[in-house]
Amino acid sequence: MSKARPGYSSFGERFARPTGIRTLMADLGAGIAGDQPLLMLGGGNPARIPAMHALFREQMQRIVGDDAAFARMLEDYSPPHGDQRFIDSLARLLQREYGWPITPANICLTAGSQTGFFMLFNLLAGADADGVNRKILLPLTPEYIGYSDVGIADPPFIAERPRIEQLPDRRFKYRVDFERLKVGDDVAAICVSRPTNPTGNVLTDEEIVHLDEIARTHGVPLIIDNAYGTPFPHIIFTEATPFWNENVILCMSLSKLGLPSVRTGIIVAAEPIVDAIASMNATINLAVSGVGPVLVQGLVESGELIRISREIIAPFYRERAEEAVAWLHESLHGVEYRLHDPEGSMFLWLWFSELPVSSQTLYERLKARGVLVLSGHHFFPGLGGDWPHRHQCIRVNYSQSPDVVRAGLRIIGEEVRRLHEQSPQKVK
Ligand code: PLP
Repeated sequence: MSKARPGYSSFGERFARPTGIRTLMADLGAGIAGDQPLLMLGGGNPARIPAMHALFREQMQRIVGDDAAFARMLEDYSPPHGDQRFIDSLARLLQREYGWPITPANICLTAGSQTGFFMLFNLLAGADADGVNRKILLPLTPEYIGYSDVGIADPPFIAERPRIEQLPDRRFKYRVDFERLKVGDDVAAICVSRPTNPTGNVLTDEEIVHLDEIARTHGVPLIIDNAYGTPFPHIIFTEATPFWNENVILCMSLSKLGLPSVRTGIIVAAEPIVDAIASMNATINLAVSGVGPVLVQGLVESGELIRISREIIAPFYRERAEEAVAWLHESLHGVEYRLHDPEGSMFLWLWFSELPVSSQTLYERLKARGVLVLSGHHFFPGLGGDWPHRHQCIRVNYSQSPDVVRAGLRIIGEEVRRLHEQSPQKVK
């Protein structure tokens, strides 16, 4: 049989090519399943937290013993919005906790948040009926790699650089640069992840309120990607008030609770948006899986999921972050580096402003030594212009076992030091 590749449509050309997210997921698969012992500090796999693992097993055992729940989980198609009991429980939880005026009609499930973003961005951005090519505005990059290639037409983003605030202890923090931020007539929506993947930034309440005002003034929705946010999985180590109103599209996920394989994303939005996503669900997926929703519905109904997120998940990641930061300082001692303040998510974002090679070369050198990280240049979707900072950062996932993280950080230190020694630039 010929291995010649058939001609593809422009959709095919766009979606069949290798992308940053494909590399990331392939590395992740190789790191997890391969024979080669790789130190997996790359993809966004959440930690296997023993207490969460035990809880999921317990819920699964309860469901296996409950005939109706078992059938609902595996034997029925869900309606286009997703499992109704889960949606009802979540609507009640969000009303009760935050007083948001949410009804079940404001919630739609998707086959993972990634699919949710594919649907949302293509629903809102692209050529509209008047021929205007509308874009999603990312007011602060670095931003999530998974957004990068989701546009079915032209890249659907306009992005801005952040303001960089220097902090003590080799830290820094990105802030939205409101002075530069322009919302043109072609902007379809504004989108931020909070906490941010890859940086661990948690946009302040003031930044969110300000973005909300700007979005309303321009009559466009504000999309908040809450994959690591509150009330679950609450991988947040700082104060952040949950935020929603009818103009906000809040995207949540069960993945970072420790359930990436159930592929459950959640969109909380005004009814027309929810309705549109439900239609897209029916066309693209027929129905979304009931496994995740049925597995956690009892925990959502009782509100236990909020307590568990605050008492088990957040402290687990906080401890991992603190340990990793201490090892990082140890391994990079004497080298010029900076660390984004780790306020949430599961990543350290390192900035090597004097690195004599690009972050991609550093990534390749680390991979050759069995350490998988991510080169920072993938995390600037839609950002034009040449900004050296894009090639000076790497993302390190610290959620795997402490031995792995420590060994990986040690090799990162060795490799960065070696690069400086091989170049005329000085090690500081
Ligand atoms: N948004 C952010 C910021 C993420 O980090 C991820 C996954 O890593 C996603 C969305 C997608 O999550 P999922 O498709 O597993 O729900």
